Amino acid sequence: MSIKAYGATAADAPLLPIDITRREPGPHDVQIDILYCGVCHSDLHQVRSEWAGTLYPCVPGHEIVGRVSAVGAHVSSFSSGDLVGVGCMVDSCQSCPSCDESLENYCTGSGFVGTYNGPSDDAPGHTLGGYSQSIVVSEKFVLHIRHDEKDLAAVAPLLCAGITTYSPLKHWNVGPGKKVGIVGIGGLGHMGVKLAHALGAHVVAFTTSPDKKQAALDLGADEVVVSRNDDEMAAHAGSFDFILNTVAASHNLDPFVGLLKRDGTLCLVGVPEHPHPSPTAFNLVFGRKAIAGSLIGGIAETQEMLDFCAEKGITSDIEMIRIDEIEDAYARMLKGDVKYRFVIDSKTLADA
Ligand SMILES: [Zn+2]
Ligand SMILES: [Zn+2]
Repeated sequence: MSIKAYGATAADAPLLPIDITRREPGPHDVQIDILYCGVCHSDLHQVRSEWAGTLYPCVPGHEIVGRVSAVGAHVSSFSSGDLVGVGCMVDSCQSCPSCDESLENYCTGSGFVGTYNGPSDDAPGHTLGGYSQSIVVSEKFVLHIRHDEKDLAAVAPLLCAGITTYSPLKHWNVGPGKKVGIVGIGGLGHMGVKLAHALGAHVVAFTTSPDKKQAALDLGADEVVVSRNDDEMAAHAGSFDFILNTVAASHNLDPFVGLLKRDGTLCLVGVPEHPHPSPTAFNLVFGRKAIAGSLIGGIAETQEMLDFCAEKGITSDIEMIRIDEIEDAYARMLKGDVKYRFVIDSKTLADA
């Protein structure tokens, strides 16, 4: 089936309309009419080949929500008309220890197959993402969406930004009685604040800009610290159980390690182009502190996160765009000028 998409044909080429093909649904496949797709920083990195190995044409997009339009003969858990989502993965080996535990995001067999730029038997030989009218995905990698349909656009960013922050918060047992920091109030960080608050923790948001203070409080932060203000930082020394750092620019981690309690963890989910300066061992050994990392989340946990958000009424704060506004959206995203996630209205692809 030939459909409309937006993609780039080279690292220095803009995103423009292209026609792509989707396979006919196989016995275990779900075919989805895409209604909205979130715009993630990874999309921009990949399409401009800022990470090695971008395959062209590149059609980004891995915060996909839509409606099932057809299912294969052996699909049991989805029917035509269901509201569904697809996140950062569309396949994995299904047989390694990580996949056995539904941690497909850490697949050590063939590695997980990304929703775009991953290996594929379908034309053109790599996966093409959600800046498109439809997608065909193996049932195992499709998520149920139980939010109200009117909230669907704002659900899209949960598929990457939501799970990327939810998974480490759960892994490090964030909940009532815990003091938790969220560093960076952008696409990821604003979800981190909402989710940590909903999990019952005392949430402190860290930002470099004093003018973001009120916005962070509005998202659910109990306190806001301007990380460039040494006095404000010092007031919280040695007091955090867990700090989630969403910043994707190289910076000194030591001030945040200094805010951890004994046995506290600073977890990184942002991946800067240039490495952070090496942290000071002194700060880690005095207090048995840890610096860790976390990558999205498995399929089972992604469904758990979506259900938790549906129950608590949590969505992302979004700005809707037409597909032909994508280059402007990238430019604004690079300046941090978005509250807090752009989402493409996929029906505008019809005019492309
Ligand atoms: Zn993403
Ligand atoms: Zn695996």
